[in-house]
Amino acid sequence: MTIRDYAESFGEKLMGMFPKIIYKVRIKDKLVALTFDDGPHPLFTNELLDLFEENGIKTTFFVTGSSIEKHKKIISRMIAEGHELGNHSYSHKNLIFKKKSMIKEEIEKTDRLLRELGVKSDIHFRPPFGRFLFAASSVLASLNKKVIMWNVPTRDFKENDSNVILKRIYKRIKPGSIIVLHDSGIERPGKKIDRQATINAVKVLIEELPKRGYKFKTVSELINY
Ligand SMILES: [Zn+2]
Repeated sequence: MTIRDYAESFGEKLMGMFPKIIYKVRIKDKLVALTFDDGPHPLFTNELLDLFEENGIKTTFFVTGSSIEKHKKIISRMIAEGHELGNHSYSHKNLIFKKKSMIKEEIEKTDRLLRELGVKSDIHFRPPFGRFLFAASSVLASLNKKVIMWNVPTRDFKENDSNVILKRIYKRIKPGSIIVLHDSGIERPGKKIDRQATINAVKVLIEELPKRGYKFKTVSELINY
């Protein structure tokens, strides 16, 4: 084996340890992806789906396996209406410092649930809280998963004012952007999930962004553009 062969095989091994991580897509055309995490939610997700149906818009939903089990009808609706489904783990635990076997099970179980409901295309992954470390990296690489992050954060899960959410989006958006929003959230005792501000922001966005020349695409459509 020459040094060059050795370097190449080492490079391949190294590449195999890390998944492809996507924050945005480098394109010149004004295409962007709206993405929604943590759902489905029986109220808010259906309201969003109604809006997208009326306006002919396709988006991407990163759903948790535990929510899929509770809301199969909504997932079927998403698939039937042409939205993209992504894997957001099964139980939405922080994957940092978790064992490889646990991480693998979290991802594979959610994939299985999505396949059972009819998802045929590649299923990309978004880590809970946007966090993961080496153990998850090698699991994701071995499962051949693309990790979809975002370059337009909105912090909508902490926001009651849709104008604040909109300002954050207008400030950061550019061609190829991936915008992260939340159609549901993590249930906490005594705290009701409320995504009205997100919905109000989306209502404005789907009017305003096309006026600025933007078109909405799913994450995979952006990647494959
Ligand atoms: Zn999440």
